[in-house]
Amino acid sequence: MTERPQEKTLAELAPANHECRLCGYVYEPEKGDSKGNVPPGTPFSELPSAWKCPVCGAKTNQFVSIGATNAPSGFQENLNYGLGVNNLTPNQKNLLIFGGLALGFLFFLSLYGLN
Ligand SMILES: [Zn+2]
Repeated sequence: MTERPQEKTLAELAPANHECRLCGYVYEPEKGDSKGNVPPGTPFSELPSAWKCPVCGAKTNQFVSIGATNAPSGFQENLNYGLGVNNLTPNQKNLLIFGGLALGFLFFLSLYGLN
């Protein structure tokens, strides 16, 4: 395997999009909000507290995280709880599964070696 351990957290790599529950507008961190003077690259959590939905004027507490585009897998309502596995990308899940298999195999070999 040539993949190196990731030094950034998933959240830093892919800030989550947030959807307005009232009108369906989606705030995308990589685009920002030109109407609200929000520069591209601003995570939802760093929006000014006075920021409102550019479409319907809803406050930030009316927005729900829908996850980053293409990044975490799993359903949006599972993103914030559980074992955290739902925050992994499919690649990371594979790594986890194959890493687990490899570890299990090594463990099996060491037991076999004892006999
Ligand atoms: Zn809205």
